[in-house]
Amino acid sequence: MKLSPLEQFICDECGELIEKLEDGWLEWIDDCKNPIHGFRIVHASGASLRRTGGKNCYYPESSDISDMHLDFFSTIDGLAILLSFFERNLGTPKELAEIIRRLHIPHYEEARRYLERASSDGFIDNIDSSQADLKRVIEEYDNDMT
Ligand SMILES: [Zn+2]
Repeated sequence: MKLSPLEQFICDECGELIEKLEDGWLEWIDDCKNPIHGFRIVHASGASLRRTGGKNCYYPESSDISDMHLDFFSTIDGLAILLSFFERNLGTPKELAEIIRRLHIPHYEEARRYLERASSDGFIDNIDSSQADLKRVIEEYDNDMT
């Protein structure tokens, strides 16, 4: 599946395409006891209801969930907030890095589905998310997934 870089995403709940930024939602768990965690990109309510006619893709209703429009987090201001999470040690660096890559590094969202396989195949040595590597991985692995 070809994705428009930085505009289309795969929903972490249903695994289906999020067609445009406005249809997406970023959510995470903030229970005040643990570092924030569980970052997910999912369909916004309107978009998932359109698709399923009833079920949305959000975490189950809870006061521990924080969330925001995906089209905000894809902006420079959204990036600034995610970086401030980093700086204040909110959330694990690994999880924050992953969500920032997905939102701000072109082609990462499409390539990430294949990175583990590409690495274990020896197709790429170090995953540093360079544009050249991400594009190579997509080119090599995209076809046999469809
Ligand atoms: Zn979904």
